[in-house]
Amino acid sequence: MKYDINKHQLGKLVGTITGKYQTFAPQEIGGKVVLAEVKTLSNLRLFSRPTVLPFKKILFPDRVEFGKADGTKSIALVGLHVCDVHALHIFLRQFVDSKLVLRRDNILIVASECEPDINCFCEVFGANRLDGFDIYLQKEEGDKYSAYTNSQTGEDILDEIDIISAEEQSNPRPIKHDDDDFEYSLEDTISRRADFEDFWQRIANNCFGCGACTAVCPLCFCFRQEYKNNIDGSSKICLKWDSCFAKGFSEIQNRNDLRPENVDRIYNWYHHKFVRGKRELGRFLCVGCGRCIVACPANLNIKNILSALDEKIERRINGGNKNS
Ligand code: SF4
Ligand code: SF4
Repeated sequence: MKYDINKHQLGKLVGTITGKYQTFAPQEIGGKVVLAEVKTLSNLRLFSRPTVLPFKKILFPDRVEFGKADGTKSIALVGLHVCDVHALHIFLRQFVDSKLVLRRDNILIVASECEPDINCFCEVFGANRLDGFDIYLQKEEGDKYSAYTNSQTGEDILDEIDIISAEEQSNPRPIKHDDDDFEYSLEDTISRRADFEDFWQRIANNCFGCGACTAVCPLCFCFRQEYKNNIDGSSKICLKWDSCFAKGFSEIQNRNDLRPENVDRIYNWYHHKFVRGKRELGRFLCVGCGRCIVACPANLNIKNILSALDEKIERRINGGNKNS
């Protein structure tokens, strides 16, 4: 269903959601757009640029105490970009049997239309497809909005506010270009490291190995166990975000490191995202959100790297213009 609402009703909609769920949404805090719990509606940025950190900071916070995850509570994630909705479903698939992360049934997903910027390339992986949400918000002219529902839960929430009008047969505007051709040779190219050794070495020479890309990526979810010692002598197990770029991440017995050089680590990042991840979870572990491009202090750009590795991606990103 499509519902026409105005600014006042949009506020009412968010108010209804915050009354029912612990709600997280993009908010402008200290000049940055961050995903944070909604306490007031005044800071909300529902149609914003991507948040600095994605939903993983809510679902699987850094240093969360082991066993503290409450699998019964329900939360709402409001204002997720469509690429993040795709990433969220892949993320939930990864943790489905772990009891470390809430299940889909406990999460209300309210997506919102985004304005793709120079770093976004969600369409490359089909992560611009409008599905997987309960409610989708689209901005119209003036103070008008459209709210599309995709589940009974979404409809029940819209039923609670006064609607200007509603219609059944209507679809949201597509985000970027939609194309069904997702057959890439990327997996094959990335699997053959030896054939591209100079290429990976050049990238590794420029990479600082800082791990900023893994921290901001919605689909980097490695963690390690740490003991938090208390003053009374007790200790607790905490799960701390880890990064495959960290030295020691791949150490096994007797300090033998399976990935001793930076080139081994950056290659592993791409191999996991585009070869192993695809085999394990059925999707590439990248939705083209562009956060790692913004975060990288060495200006390494995953879009350019993938374009260089796969002609079909190059064509899709640059429309066949090799010079663009
Ligand atoms: S690898 Fe980069 S572009 Fe892809 S999902 Fe992660 S942060 Fe976004
Ligand atoms: S953010 Fe950039 S420099 Fe840092 S590890 Fe990632 S690719 Fe390397």
